[in-house]
Amino acid sequence: MANNFIETASFIHEYIKKDLKKTSELVTRFPPEPNGYLHIGHAKSICLNFGLAKIYDGKCNLRLDDTNPAKENREYIDSIINDIKWLGFDYGERLFFASDYFEKFYEYAIYLIKKSKAYVCDLTPEEIKKFRGNLNESGRESPYRNRIIKENLVLFEKMRNGEFEDSSRTLRAKIDMDSPNINMRDPVIYRIARICHHNSKNKWCIYPMYDFAHPLEDAIEKVTHSICTMEFEDHKPLYNWVIENCDFKKKPRQIEFAKLSLTQTIMGKRYLKELVDNKEVDGWDDPRLPTISGIRRRGYTPDSIKKFCESIGISKADNNVDISFLEHCIRDDLKLKSKIYMAILNPLKIIIENYREDNFEYLDIENHSATENMGKRKVLFSKEIYIERSDFLEDAPKKFYRLTKNQEVRLKGAYFIKFLEAIKDENGNILELVCEYDPKTKSGSNFSNKKAKGTIQWVSCKEFIKAEIREYDYLLLKNGKKNPETLKIKKNCVLEFSTKNILIDERVQFMRHGFFIKDCKYCNDDNIVFNKIVGLKSSYK
Ligand code: ATP
Ligand code: MG
Repeated sequence: MANNFIETASFIHEYIKKDLKKTSELVTRFPPEPNGYLHIGHAKSICLNFGLAKIYDGKCNLRLDDTNPAKENREYIDSIINDIKWLGFDYGERLFFASDYFEKFYEYAIYLIKKSKAYVCDLTPEEIKKFRGNLNESGRESPYRNRIIKENLVLFEKMRNGEFEDSSRTLRAKIDMDSPNINMRDPVIYRIARICHHNSKNKWCIYPMYDFAHPLEDAIEKVTHSICTMEFEDHKPLYNWVIENCDFKKKPRQIEFAKLSLTQTIMGKRYLKELVDNKEVDGWDDPRLPTISGIRRRGYTPDSIKKFCESIGISKADNNVDISFLEHCIRDDLKLKSKIYMAILNPLKIIIENYREDNFEYLDIENHSATENMGKRKVLFSKEIYIERSDFLEDAPKKFYRLTKNQEVRLKGAYFIKFLEAIKDENGNILELVCEYDPKTKSGSNFSNKKAKGTIQWVSCKEFIKAEIREYDYLLLKNGKKNPETLKIKKNCVLEFSTKNILIDERVQFMRHGFFIKDCKYCNDDNIVFNKIVGLKSSYK
């Protein structure tokens, strides 16, 4: 782990160190609700919980918090497990499902009823809300609050047996209607809802509420440190109340930290699900989304995500991070690891007048300019080549260091070329260029004493791969509005022939363009599709 991570999480370390004097082992957990795919915010929590377990030689449970069947399903569970494994975290045997504790939750509810700490309430949801009061006004007690234990036991059993309509009754904890903390005003701990559960199917028609189930899940699993995000700070008294009143000997400690948010993107499963359901994006793994599966398809590596999570640190103060920092992390991870190829996204044909038609040669070009151990490859050079349309300007401004009327340019790994003539259509659009090459300037030879102002990429017209390249933009504009144009598809790109060897999950650099990966969903032998992971230039300072 980076030092940063350890230093910034000092408030967590202090608790842990103190507590470890009394308990033998640290147990944390990552408890996603399977109601959507994981996103980069979850990655922060995963790195923290698994990271702490590693540092303190403890354990971290992966617990699917599946107590609300209305929004949960199997697809989400599978994706969560897959994402965590892909990130490289190992929960070993410690995969748990909260729904496996349904019977236990029920028993604890009965335990509370027997202690006169819970009661069946017949108020409607609207009435409960009205009776609860607000920040300025204390609550009113339910007329059912003082039901005798025996009656509560009978009614609760009937709730379980399906003898009452959905939402017609609840089980409530008996705490304090005058509490300044509204969460403590006799919160509902069980509701009636006839919904099929992915695990227990139709066995239950009553389901525990999050604030009741979650502390029990932690206590049942003997979690020692229950690390959650700040919005649960106000729920902590209730969390502790449940643990206390259910008489657990070992009490997990809840510690809160700030959620990660990223600029210019949409986080939060609810909002992401809306984009997916409305088909505004291509599924949960759309490369524009900050979901783990989206950024994986986009080409991010597990290392870059972990590095990002470690670098942003853990605190209680808001953690709003510029999205360009995430891009910085993947760029930094790839820059020395990925081979550099030549690709032309918007081709302009060049005819080299003084190069013989029947001539061609294979030039050796290094796979990376900074790391020699990546070796070299052969690239075909011929009379006709493509360059990037934007690399030529007839009348160029002073600082244009590419091909112009009166300025030569170096072709990467090949020769200098000089502009002779532009062939245009009747509307003045440039169709192709006629140029001349200087045979003395062959790359690697000692003849050339010319200095090139610029070096550009090129691809032979004799041998190339046609490809589609997809470029993505942020979901949100700087002003917070939705970006109307987040995907650019470039269909007629040409790549040097050796790109045919690029593997499906291999990240590469296209010279002067950025980092790319084949799109695992749409790329096949007949239709080569690359995603742009990130450009070369950083806006991150
Ligand atoms: P969302 O708001 O996206 O729906 P959630 O908090 O409802 O997320 P859970 O499945 O309950 O999602 O989250 C599992 C764990 O991940 C929780 O411990 C939660 O605190 C943590 N978590 C969720 N979002 C973030 C985030 N943006 N930054 C850090 N941790 C997060
Ligand atoms: Mg949630």
